[in-house]
Amino acid sequence: MSTSNSRVTSVLELRRKLPFPLRGLADLAYNYWWSWSSNSTALFRDIDPQEWEVCGHNPVSILKSAKYERLTQLLEDPSYLEHISALEKEFDNYINQKDTWVNRVAPQVTRDNPIAYFCAEFGIHESLPIYSGGLGILAGDHLKSSSDLGLPMVGIGLLYRQGYFHQQLNSQGWQEDYYVDNPFREMPIELMKDNQGNPLSIELIIRQRIVKVQIWRAQVGRVSLYLLDSNREDNDPIDRWLTGHLYGGNQETRIAQEVVLGIGGIRALTILGIEPSIYHLNEGHAAFCTLEIARQEIECTGKSFYDIEDNVRQKCVFTTHTPVPAGHDVFSSDLMDSFFAHYWHQLHLSREQFLALGARRLGDPWEPFSMTVLALRMCRTSNGVSKLHGQVSRKMWTVLYPQLSEKEVPIGYITNGIHAPTWTAPLMADLYCKYLGSGWKNHTIDPKMWAKVDDIPAEELWWRHKILKERLIAYTRYKVKQSRIKRGEEEQRINATNFLLDPNVLTIGFARRFSPYKRAYLLLQDVERSLRVFGNTQYPVQIILAGKAHPADEEGKRIIQRLVEWYKHPELLHRVALIEDYDIYTGQKLVQGVDVWLNNPRRPLEASGTSGQKVCFNGGINCSVLDGWWCEGYQAGVNGWAIGEDAHTSDQELQDRIDSESLYCLLEEEIVPMYYDQDANGIPHRWVDMMKASIRTNAPLFNTNRMVTDYVSQVYVPEISTSVKPILAKFKV
Ligand SMILES: *Cc1c(COP(=O)(O)O)cnc(C)c1O
Repeated sequence: MSTSNSRVTSVLELRRKLPFPLRGLADLAYNYWWSWSSNSTALFRDIDPQEWEVCGHNPVSILKSAKYERLTQLLEDPSYLEHISALEKEFDNYINQKDTWVNRVAPQVTRDNPIAYFCAEFGIHESLPIYSGGLGILAGDHLKSSSDLGLPMVGIGLLYRQGYFHQQLNSQGWQEDYYVDNPFREMPIELMKDNQGNPLSIELIIRQRIVKVQIWRAQVGRVSLYLLDSNREDNDPIDRWLTGHLYGGNQETRIAQEVVLGIGGIRALTILGIEPSIYHLNEGHAAFCTLEIARQEIECTGKSFYDIEDNVRQKCVFTTHTPVPAGHDVFSSDLMDSFFAHYWHQLHLSREQFLALGARRLGDPWEPFSMTVLALRMCRTSNGVSKLHGQVSRKMWTVLYPQLSEKEVPIGYITNGIHAPTWTAPLMADLYCKYLGSGWKNHTIDPKMWAKVDDIPAEELWWRHKILKERLIAYTRYKVKQSRIKRGEEEQRINATNFLLDPNVLTIGFARRFSPYKRAYLLLQDVERSLRVFGNTQYPVQIILAGKAHPADEEGKRIIQRLVEWYKHPELLHRVALIEDYDIYTGQKLVQGVDVWLNNPRRPLEASGTSGQKVCFNGGINCSVLDGWWCEGYQAGVNGWAIGEDAHTSDQELQDRIDSESLYCLLEEEIVPMYYDQDANGIPHRWVDMMKASIRTNAPLFNTNRMVTDYVSQVYVPEISTSVKPILAKFKV
């Protein structure tokens, strides 16, 4: 393979361990490309299916622990060997492909000066558990599509020793949280070293101590993701935990982590010899990076902060994700003093000048330091993540632009999408190969290609969907059974999982973080009615739930508990299931197998939402509040349902009643009758038509290839664009 010259130590070590014909697996194992290529999971899983599950679907770990005897046994199977060499070839072609979209439209973005994409979390795969939810998944999908499109990019994030917490429900339905150590050395990541073989490290001053931070690299196709880690023996024991947990700890932990991400991230790029052309701040967490870019420039040129400020701004772009003021990170001036007293001198700024960079209102000594304000002030462009969220953000931040009207506030929008190859079930991808063309993954933004979905015979779409649904149900039974065994429930309850859910029944999915604004309790507003709908014996409905509440979110935990109490009603015995410890794998099974995806957030708090988009690529249908992306995707009577339509009120209780009533009406009057309107062969033709519409209308819009091409033409390299949305404006205070 021509990638051999760039092979890193860990890959070489692993290759040496493997029998000759299996060595290509080592290269695949260290590049997450395998996770979205055509069906390579089987290659790793078949080595040892049980161990594959135990190690959390980690290909490096499975290869390292594989017995030689087993490996040689696999060698006896010509189809296994053929599969490996086919994938090796595909990988080689992918990595070395010259004719990419970016080479054609924006050749000025080069490997020498890539885009640096900063984010506090990345959801690449369940075997790299450094994500909590939507923000991380979006970041992961952004890197994958950038790789697919040939956009030179590096990611910058943190490598959390214990990642995000794990969830277990006790017998009272109360969420218990626990953490597990990530075995870095067994993971598909590589520690960056210098020529002498010592770990590369950078230094930061945090809480008056020097902290050394080392750098790992995960390979995501053509994109390198650099992850910072303070867990080194030469650090103070407290500082070794700086990168311990994602979104754990208090405000002090939070600011310390954001210093590592922002300031540490820039220093890491410098020591790695990477000179980005653009810095993309995905959410405000990384906004300190703008200060460090400025500091380096001041150090080099001796100029003042205000002289180079605009240079920094030309290189930085910002995406905001939070539609409520309380959701934005702010730090008290005390905290800022304790973390930055040594730093503002290096920018040649006074304390007041420095703190003003993050102040919503100038001249108020109690005004906390806002990461979003810093980002808005220091970035050339800013955008929200859906059309509605753009509006909400402009309104929220008018305070920063007193001379502008709300419409003129320079915050635009680029609607989120999902990475189609990651979220489309292999059975559906295979169907698209057959009817849309084998290169469908390269044309996901072409509506004409997606129009061919109408050519798929109803029977074929339906049987594939039925298989995916059966798979989801089998998986759900298995997970629920494991949880019941773990809780020590009685045998009868454990065996009852064999009858949980029914593949012939209309199946709803509801999975997301259990933040109160997501209103999982909406289903329970009218318990009697819910029992009539879900417990209906003639036209039953079933629902699969999953999601975590943040460890500090008592209200979220109470919502989970109420759901658990609800499904103990005997009518719901086989109709409701909750899968614990939601992660990417469970997410995939869910979005690929459900008939209907339910999303009922409190509008407009869902900045975009992406899980409903994943469902569309698998023929699922959305039933959602007109918030986030669904405002743009929904076509009445064509591709799904809208809860509450346009009835908006600021009275939350009233809104809950309106939306709950609307949800139950939709179920009773439209969704259930349409699903059970089946022909003699059990095919619901009207339903299948809507499945096709769901794919045809949504797929070309809500994928990350469309999203990344928008970022390229509107944000990263706007000079190539012919239709720039109004998100470029100078910041003036
Ligand atoms: C897609 C995804 C999310 C995002 O969910 P939304 O409710 O759409 O914001 C969160 N968690 C996981 C595991 C996902 O796959």
